[in-house]
Amino acid sequence: MHIERRDFLSTLTMASAATLFSGNPLLASLAPKKEKLGIALVGLGYYSTDLLAPALQLTEKCYLAGIVTGTPEKAQTWKAKYKIPEKNIYNYQNFDKIADNPDIDIVYVVLPPSMHREFVVRAAKAGKHVFCEKPMAPSVADCEAMISACKTNKVKLAIGYRCQHDPNIQAYMKVAKEKKFGKVMMVNSAAGYLDNRTTHWKQNKKLGGGVMGDMGVYALQGARLATGEEPVSVTALASTTRPQIYNQVEETMMFMLDFPSGARAACQTSFGINMNHLQINYEKGWLKMEPHSGYSGNKGSMSDGTIINYPIQNQQAKQMDEDCLAIISGSELIAPGEEGLRDIRVVEAIYKSVETGKNVKI
Ligand code: NAD
Repeated sequence: MHIERRDFLSTLTMASAATLFSGNPLLASLAPKKEKLGIALVGLGYYSTDLLAPALQLTEKCYLAGIVTGTPEKAQTWKAKYKIPEKNIYNYQNFDKIADNPDIDIVYVVLPPSMHREFVVRAAKAGKHVFCEKPMAPSVADCEAMISACKTNKVKLAIGYRCQHDPNIQAYMKVAKEKKFGKVMMVNSAAGYLDNRTTHWKQNKKLGGGVMGDMGVYALQGARLATGEEPVSVTALASTTRPQIYNQVEETMMFMLDFPSGARAACQTSFGINMNHLQINYEKGWLKMEPHSGYSGNKGSMSDGTIINYPIQNQQAKQMDEDCLAIISGSELIAPGEEGLRDIRVVEAIYKSVETGKNVKI
């Protein structure tokens, strides 16, 4: 193979630049801008396997460059399936070496919630931008530590709120902003499915289980995005119909939110009931969505006859492409760490209300 000297020198310069810039957050910000960013998925469970990796075959601004897993057999399967080079495969112990890998621009944390903080902080310290799945973390303190680590290391932090990238969800956010039907009076929001697993992290308190952080954030996001406001107080009630499974965490949570404008929301979330809808009643009309927080097919209608039904090829691909574009262009992320924190602040108040049996100010 004949390599032109100029090509050789340019390859050499890029390679040296990559080595020079990687692992050093300050220098990394000066590195030549890439057109397509390399993502490493951490945690190769259901969501990475069934949704994110397939979506990364459709993305235009990023690609699946690496993996981080605690299971060597998974590493082999993924390496073969997605042609991932051995040098881009890490385990939880040697993960910090990712700092020296110029192929990886973004670490996407797809682990149980109790592990989000550790891996987001380690990724930030390695000088990598971070995507983190919802719920951001089990506590406000965790979220603040994650935001702070990313700020200190000058990397971006995006939360995997795929719905906020969906034009069908953006449609009712726009109604809130433009006050098309006047003030919001009442929101009804529900997100749940029947989970029959018995020993998964979703049933384990220490690993960040419980329906509130899991499906509950979709019900909560429905209320927050429908009003465009942050709730000021909450009254919540936790329950379970299967105490043999749900003995550490709640199976169902019902919570009522009060917003500064006087709008109220009644929200439900459950690991025992299939439900996925949102209804907003305004001063002069209504808007309904069903499904409301699906991977696809979210749709709705308004009292003036407007139909919400925008086609979308792949929600996760759109989310990752838009977040990568924000990183490449230096613009605002749609759902940064601060947005994850806003939800967890409410989630903490919800648990406090369950514990005290009282209305809790947020
Ligand atoms: P999962 O149980 O299928 O996968 C979790 C992964 O973490 C597995 O690969 C497991 O091996 C690994 N892991 C490492 N240490 C572990 C430990 N101590 N206990 C259990 N697992 C451990 O879970 P999932 O459904 O893929 O969820 C992962 C994250 O993605 C969660 O934060 C979840 O809320 C989020 N998620 C988001 C969406 C969405 O629509 N945005 C959908 C599903 C899951």
